[in-house]
Amino acid sequence: MERPKSIRLLGVSIPLIVSNCKSEDLEDDEEVFGMWDGNEMVILLNSECGEIQERTTLLHELLHAIDDFLYLQLKHREIYSLSQTLYQVLADNPQLVSYLLAGFSKERNGDSDSTGSYKINKSYRCYKDN
Ligand SMILES: [Zn+2]
Repeated sequence: MERPKSIRLLGVSIPLIVSNCKSEDLEDDEEVFGMWDGNEMVILLNSECGEIQERTTLLHELLHAIDDFLYLQLKHREIYSLSQTLYQVLADNPQLVSYLLAGFSKERNGDSDSTGSYKINKSYRCYKDN
């Protein structure tokens, strides 16, 4: 399956750019698989990543972008754990992804002025206290 050119996040289109991920901030021998650039609002993916590595990296960098957008101030370690676990859940449950999105496409097709973007239901509550 072809890599999307961009990801829509909270109404913002974030380009996915494949590059060698070299940065002045990195040491010469330091290697990164990808980067979320919050200034340029792009996700960079290392061109030398393997297929699965690229996909898990994309999910990881997307979580960095979400973290940034929502000022969650998650630590890299937390984002790493979330992205690895979420990828594993998605990989182990392809029927879950189909199920979740089946309702979405039905609603989207029935809504004539929809932009095709998921609208957050403001009445939604998660009752898990922390
Ligand atoms: Zn990270």
